[in-house]
Amino acid sequence: MIAVFDPRQAAHDPQFFLSSGAPQPCPEKPDRAQALLEAVTQLGLTVKQPTDRGVAPIEAVHPERYLTFLKNIHQRWQRIAGASAEVIPNIHPDHRLVGYPASAVGQAGYHMMDTSCPIGPATWEAAYASAQTALEAADLVRSGARAAYALCRPPGHHAFAELAGGFCYLNNSAIAAQSLTGQGARVAILDVDLHHGNGTQGIFYSRGDVLTVSIHADPVRYYPFFWGYATETGEGAGEGVNLNLPLPRGTGDHGFLAALDMALGRVADFAPTHLVLALGLDAFEGDPFAGLAVTTQGFARIGQAIAALGLPVVIVQEGGYLCPELGQNLDAVLRAFL
Ligand SMILES: [Zn+2]
Repeated sequence: MIAVFDPRQAAHDPQFFLSSGAPQPCPEKPDRAQALLEAVTQLGLTVKQPTDRGVAPIEAVHPERYLTFLKNIHQRWQRIAGASAEVIPNIHPDHRLVGYPASAVGQAGYHMMDTSCPIGPATWEAAYASAQTALEAADLVRSGARAAYALCRPPGHHAFAELAGGFCYLNNSAIAAQSLTGQGARVAILDVDLHHGNGTQGIFYSRGDVLTVSIHADPVRYYPFFWGYATETGEGAGEGVNLNLPLPRGTGDHGFLAALDMALGRVADFAPTHLVLALGLDAFEGDPFAGLAVTTQGFARIGQAIAALGLPVVIVQEGGYLCPELGQNLDAVLRAFL
């Protein structure tokens, strides 16, 4: 199996993070990618840098004005007297149907759902490289690989079509899925990150051609709070084509694997030709976010159960934060696809 990685992703090094209102060091650090890269190297995977496929496959998911915002907002922000070093929104509109502000502060509110997606000088470059990484892995799988691993950072599954949030700017899993769909594939996206894949759900919510399934900590007491409930099943042509499987805080291997069994049943019913696995590793019992309690052995069983579907799989890295077992957990999942 090939692992795709672009070192330009390391330049994004967010400093700002609020936890229950208190400033803390941001856990979405470049070191995460380093730990994951060491794991795939030790596993013996070939590491490949992505070819630049340009902005068109990203624009198939994200509108041009949002990409322009991501590209230019840091520079514009620096022209505001007394502004913060990184772009942080200080207004959060309750709806966005009327008007589009020209102001940098207004646009930051429009395009950033929370304060966990600060934009620094290298954010665009890294997010762009992260999306290209996912596209390369999608192409490898489309060309016949059984699986390919995209070491994406920053992650993507909280990013909506034109809304950043939760460390995410461009939705790498959605971009990979859309690139496959655009070439005739029937795609299911399975998200096993600790947090609900709200951006991915939002992007495909009214579409019937891409199945979105997410297993995550129950949003009634966990980020992203406003999405991820079992009652969200899709709308219009997408009705019935979104499945959320929220789990109580602290759920371990047994409960997670039972939910995965349901998820895989739904995926099989959809009869996709390709699977995009949004692979967060933060459901781990030792992850700093401490929301669920999956073990390293549990990750091995998760990988085995997904591999048993027999579908070609684009594995896209989502969350999973620094702890001694981060690399072992990735290793445990990827081994099932060797
Ligand atoms: Zn997560």
